[in-house]
Amino acid sequence: MKITDKKVALIHYTLKNAGGEVLDSSEGHDPLAYLHGEGNIIAGLESALEGKSAGDKLEVSVEAAEAYGEYDESLVQPIPRSQFGEHDVEVGMQFHADTAVGPRVVTITAIDGDEVVIDANHQLAGEDLNFSVEVVEVRDASEEELDHGHVHGPGGHEH
Ligand SMILES: [Zn+2]
Repeated sequence: MKITDKKVALIHYTLKNAGGEVLDSSEGHDPLAYLHGEGNIIAGLESALEGKSAGDKLEVSVEAAEAYGEYDESLVQPIPRSQFGEHDVEVGMQFHADTAVGPRVVTITAIDGDEVVIDANHQLAGEDLNFSVEVVEVRDASEEELDHGHVHGPGGHEH
């Protein structure tokens, strides 16, 4: 069976950045299960998997724009320290916030006196990504999975 729209694919993957540093891997875990054609995984990886079947191995390079987007300077902004009230602030802290581009995970990247600089870019924004992928299994999706637009069970949603 080949990976086409509305099939469930289970894949093992290792993700490296352009410098060869491992950022994420399914090794030692269940394979990742996703519903093909639903945008469950980044676009560049999904299109490379189209037509593949169990046992296929592939190396996929995805440019930043097709992965988590280019780094956007306008998503970096200073906010007053007072907005955090009594909470401690530290460089590297992350929290959910409403931003100009919708709800995002933002990271504190600098603290300068009464000013806290937050960055709403995805942590992998601006990174060209290299995936080593092995297709483990391809199966039909259940009615319920198609209805929800994602995979249930091992490697997918538990509900
Ligand atoms: Zn569901």
